[in-house]
Amino acid sequence: MSDCIFCKIVAGEIPCKKVYEDDEVLAFHDIHPVAPVHFMIVPKAHVDSLLHCDDGHRAILGKILLLAPRLAREQGLATGFRTAINTGRDGGQEVFHLHVHVYGGSGPRPL
Ligand code: 5GP
Ligand code: ZN
Repeated sequence: MSDCIFCKIVAGEIPCKKVYEDDEVLAFHDIHPVAPVHFMIVPKAHVDSLLHCDDGHRAILGKILLLAPRLAREQGLATGFRTAINTGRDGGQEVFHLHVHVYGGSGPRPL
């Protein structure tokens, strides 16, 4: 996956504004935020998208979803946030390394 931009971020070859890291996941701010706070949580192990996940991804998907509210709170989104997982070209996915968007901070209006 040498041409995957998020794998390069995970490997430290491209810098990012890190939100959280452990041995399995990395969270970092989106380079083009759509809200005052906008970060993404990605598995370190490359998988293209939700369409490419199977039972073997159950634990990492659960971990990422449970990290979302914790990191959102730490980033100042204590009262609510949105999540998005764009999947496939027809789902608006641009970077084909699974990622969960977490964003908010502009109130309850649609973003
Ligand atoms: P997608 O449309 O695939 O769900 O979202 C990909 C996101 O990755 C976009 O919101 C885009 O701004 C973000 N992005 C693309 N390249 C980079 C990068 O090099 N660094 C960071 N931090 N975000 C990126
Ligand atoms: Zn990747």
